[in-house]
Amino acid sequence: MTRGSSTSQRQKEPASGQDGRLLGDEPAEIIHLAVRENRSYLMEHESKEILEGAGIATTGHLVARSEDEALALCEKTGFPVAMKIVSPDVVHKSDAGGVRLNLQSADEARKAYRAMMDTFKYQHIEGITIQRMAAPGIEAIIGVTRDPSFGPLIMFGLGGVFVEVLRDVSFRILPITEKDAAEMIEEIRGSDILKGYRGRPVDLQSLRRLLLKISRLVDENPEIHELDLNPLFLYPDGYVAVDARMFVREPAQPEGAAATGAKSLHDLFYPKSIAVIGASDVKGKLGANVFCNLVSHGYPGKLYPINPGKETVMGVRAYKSIRDVPDPVDLAIVIVPAKAAEAAIADCCAKGVRFVVVEAAGFAESGKEGKDAQARIEAVIRKHGCRVLGPNCSGVINTHHNMVQSIGLLGDLKKGNVGMVAQAGVYAAGILTGLSNVLDFGIVATIGNKMDINETDILEYLSNDNHISVIVMYMEDIRSGKRFVDVASRAAVRKPVIVLKSGRTEAGKKAVSSHTASLAGDDEVNSAAFRQSGVIRARDNEHLFALTRAFSKQPVPKGNGVMVITYTGSLGVAATDMLYLSGMRLAELEPYFQQRLKNALPDYASVGNPIDCSFSMTPGQVKKLIEIGVESNDVQSFIVVLQGEILGSFVDVMKSVNYKEKPAVCVVACKEFMIHDVVRMEQAGFPVYSTAEMAAEALGQMYAYGVRRRNAITDSIARRLTKDTLSVDDVPVRLRLIDSKDIGLWTDFVNSCSPKSLWLRFLSPFSATPERAQRFCNVNPEEEVALVAEARTGDQYKFLGIARLIKNKRCEGEAEYAVIISDSWQNKSLGITLSEQCIELAKKEGYKTIRAETLQENYAMIRIFRRCAFNFDGKDENMVSMTLNLS
Ligand code: ADP
Ligand code: MG
Repeated sequence: MTRGSSTSQRQKEPASGQDGRLLGDEPAEIIHLAVRENRSYLMEHESKEILEGAGIATTGHLVARSEDEALALCEKTGFPVAMKIVSPDVVHKSDAGGVRLNLQSADEARKAYRAMMDTFKYQHIEGITIQRMAAPGIEAIIGVTRDPSFGPLIMFGLGGVFVEVLRDVSFRILPITEKDAAEMIEEIRGSDILKGYRGRPVDLQSLRRLLLKISRLVDENPEIHELDLNPLFLYPDGYVAVDARMFVREPAQPEGAAATGAKSLHDLFYPKSIAVIGASDVKGKLGANVFCNLVSHGYPGKLYPINPGKETVMGVRAYKSIRDVPDPVDLAIVIVPAKAAEAAIADCCAKGVRFVVVEAAGFAESGKEGKDAQARIEAVIRKHGCRVLGPNCSGVINTHHNMVQSIGLLGDLKKGNVGMVAQAGVYAAGILTGLSNVLDFGIVATIGNKMDINETDILEYLSNDNHISVIVMYMEDIRSGKRFVDVASRAAVRKPVIVLKSGRTEAGKKAVSSHTASLAGDDEVNSAAFRQSGVIRARDNEHLFALTRAFSKQPVPKGNGVMVITYTGSLGVAATDMLYLSGMRLAELEPYFQQRLKNALPDYASVGNPIDCSFSMTPGQVKKLIEIGVESNDVQSFIVVLQGEILGSFVDVMKSVNYKEKPAVCVVACKEFMIHDVVRMEQAGFPVYSTAEMAAEALGQMYAYGVRRRNAITDSIARRLTKDTLSVDDVPVRLRLIDSKDIGLWTDFVNSCSPKSLWLRFLSPFSATPERAQRFCNVNPEEEVALVAEARTGDQYKFLGIARLIKNKRCEGEAEYAVIISDSWQNKSLGITLSEQCIELAKKEGYKTIRAETLQENYAMIRIFRRCAFNFDGKDENMVSMTLNLS
């Protein structure tokens, strides 16, 4: 049998199946047949036929069964050709002598055919593939493998030594987006080679599309278990897959949903009543610690100590069993020996308790018996729809609910904005005690063996809790990684998520069949998952809390220009180096501010940035310098290097500056030996780092986070536009959000508007200045939406109009609206269309009302507002004010 029909050309557009799927019936059948026949390995020709069916270019997949057929196929393909062995037993063809390249004539082809037949005479062979020779290109590899937790992963890398020796590859969890595809290519160390370092750049767009097609192919065909395109040749125009193999199998059943119980975890964190099973007042007992913590921190709800031997515990009436408690109980803590815990949990279920925190240990972590007990408990709680945290954990702390369930006795905790999920109890005990000097937590949840509630559940909850603005996670393993990526991606748009994941080096010890699988060590996968979801990965505990302190105490920088103030040149240099490595830079002060700096410093000080005040640095000087920086446009954050021995005298001054939302962090070399004042500075809201590098890195991470978040929000707003093209007077017009690259277009637009139009829009004379261009093109998507209409002449775009919705900070749910249309495009319904789209966006963004104000003489504008159903609100001598109710 000769499979397939043609050798394909590069760059074929995807052939789509009838129901919009990537694969047509025939190539899909190859997969199903193999699965039915229990064959897992798909040979090159089969794999390539599937790829071609998905619109992916290959060197061809024709198979010859006889010498005559081989020669005929060679003629059909055209010389030179490549011949390769087709055998289910030969996975690595060239190692076995099964690849003959560059055959120039029928004569050479015949000789090669006979030689190959001879080499494989003792093996089962199906035939020989005849394919065209691919022109030399840059060798790359794309692969897919599967991870038990994250599901299918896609890998990209350069071929040859890059992948084999340097392991220079990038991974993503499937399915990927266009942005992921671009980042995968960008991420490999050799990416400059693709961009034309020493030669012509490869066709990055078709490479991105190829990655997306592979992603879609595997997503739509879960039978594809693994896949390697190795090599793939990349060209300045297009690519071709030279070799391919796949492994298929019956798809795994999708993972069952989590517990059947309460969906929202709200009551786990804000229970109105708590029973403590195993509460005690015998000093030193864990049950005493837990109960004492609840009492001493002033838990505001009802407490029910459960202890069969006591009338009262710490003066609170006790019960023999939770079943004896007369009122409903929201949450129960179980802190009795493992043997008794099972019955206690069953009692909780019978009582109808929805959340049980099992702090008792001795379960799955301690061997077979414990594992079995844990499995029995799981069955019981699933039946009752009760949710369990733990076992083997240290409970929950919620300072906003005065609730401390920790096993370790804890002193005062301030109410903070940090939410922490930890797979180790120590984060709710010893570590927390230390950290509470410099960091204020809102919620801490320890998850222990995570029999039911896991890190992702808590992450999801914390991302919705308004008391929490930074999320910290300590994890040893990730349950259902695919869901983690999904939840973390959404969480990271709302607030920073910083993760410490231990167990990084151990590569999976699984038996691997594909090249890709051998490269997908556990940690590669974790890193890919974190990157893909926008989670920030910390190296160690020190780094974790260094970043957490920055994010929880300081705003995110709005630009990457940094002012470095120091008393010693060396630390200024250290900060500078790291700033540039972290995507930041030294701010360039405008000449006016440079003069002011000179005036603020003694003659011998260096006023260039870093500003070196020398050892004579005083608090007053630092204050002046920061105040100058606050006013400068290019300065968006500060690193202040201070002397440890006089640190105390800087605390009040640092606190007294109005930073106007620009972050500041401090550096104190050897701070650990001068910790008293460091703690004071931290409590004043300024993170203090031991090294200038750490300070620079923290600012870099914050800035990168802000950019990513802003882009994600902008993308989601852009996706909500229902109309992005229209025709006005037969001219095609495009609608889109304004962005920072539009400064030129914006300036041209303002310059093209008549003074009258500008007056009507801005209510005063208005002209384009660089500062205004910056301000109007760099919108903060959380506070403002700016929609532009543009038309193209030749390859030049031109703005025709701009509409803006600006959140009214003084009135919840209200946005202010304004629009300006270029003079020659007025009265052509463009203003109405722009306004309708803005109104749609405002609705989807959750605004309740839109207000607009305009001059009475602005008839055109008033007409637009009327057409969009705005209501007349009121007027004074000059102005008309109108509102539109959206709810
Ligand atoms: P295997 O990986 O099973 O050993 P390949 O099909 O990848 O076999 O062939 C080995 C090498 O031969 C490839 O890495 C590539 O460099 C070269 N090669 C194979 N087929 C072609 C072709 N059609 N055109 C150009 N080079 C080829
Ligand atoms: Mg190969």
